[in-house]
Amino acid sequence: MQKNLFNYYKKYLPINENTPFVSIGEGFTPLVKSENLSDKYKCNIYFKLEGSNPTGSFKDRGMFLTVAKTLEKKKKKIICASTGNTSASAAAYGAKYNLETVVIIPKGKIALGKLIQAMAYGAKIISINGNFDESLLAVKDISDSLDFEIVNSINPYRLEGQKTGAFEIIEQLGFSPDFQFIPVGNAGNISSYWKGYKQFYDSKICNKLPVLYGIQADGAAPLVDNKIIKNPNTIASAIRIGNPASADLAKDSINESSGEFIKVSDDNILDAQKIIARKEGIFCEPASAASVAGLIKLISKGYDFSNKNIVCILTGNGLKDPENAQQYLQSNIIKTSSDPDEIREAILKY
Ligand SMILES: *Cc1c(COP(=O)(O)O)cnc(C)c1O
Repeated sequence: MQKNLFNYYKKYLPINENTPFVSIGEGFTPLVKSENLSDKYKCNIYFKLEGSNPTGSFKDRGMFLTVAKTLEKKKKKIICASTGNTSASAAAYGAKYNLETVVIIPKGKIALGKLIQAMAYGAKIISINGNFDESLLAVKDISDSLDFEIVNSINPYRLEGQKTGAFEIIEQLGFSPDFQFIPVGNAGNISSYWKGYKQFYDSKICNKLPVLYGIQADGAAPLVDNKIIKNPNTIASAIRIGNPASADLAKDSINESSGEFIKVSDDNILDAQKIIARKEGIFCEPASAASVAGLIKLISKGYDFSNKNIVCILTGNGLKDPENAQQYLQSNIIKTSSDPDEIREAILKY
């Protein structure tokens, strides 16, 4: 039997005898050593492959518990604002557990793969003329009057469920990493990881805590620049957020762990996405590559990570966002006829 987060981590989660079992197979994602980058930078770099979750992002870790608690309250309707992955995840659980699911998305700003998922799972999709931050404001406004449960990360059960990422890393390594790099958008996930590490530390399952680095994009870096960004802009749509809902929790996590918020350019992000794909065989979405871009930036600034254990959270699957990748990968395709001689020639000339 496939292990499930609900039963495996029950005693660390707000689950009681009235909480209905929920799972679509989330969690227990691989932690893979990045052999080539580790060699290059003389440290141990690991990737947590959150794109291996059922809907292709870490959002499923929070969603299983949020939906379980929604069912416990006998509610039948869920709603979220989304840059894409939350809507895909909510729609999947909504489908399985027969919940009316509404997703509010910023018009024209959702990566194709994510939108297709919400459609496939059968969610009601409302595309608004506004950005993510405005979508979330609308959701907060609407939810009560229509009796919807909000399943964004402002729902505390999202953060509780997402702690399991930290639990798994400690179990997979046998200890806490020295450093963790993680992309930051609405700032829920970094706060979850910190909660998870602290909980296992307090339970004496690990004997140290990692230093956290939260990575934002240059054009959407409210936590680095210390101000709300009105029109956040970056190729990494999952972290295109100007007013993070969990800003305070995230700042506490960074301060308590003696870490830092860092910003990286879109070029850095795309370079990192390419390096991860071409050196390690892992295709992650741009927001996820930001974590590695952050690590590379700090190394280039002279930070010393030699012989340290470093985990980068690769939050989502690269297949979700084919358009972005296509733009800079297109030139790789050589077209020929079906004539084997011509094909042979094309290969030799490549
Ligand atoms: C949601 C998401 C993020 C950002 O997580 P927050 O909890 O909003 O900070 C990063 N990467 C991917 C792929 C995401 O889906």
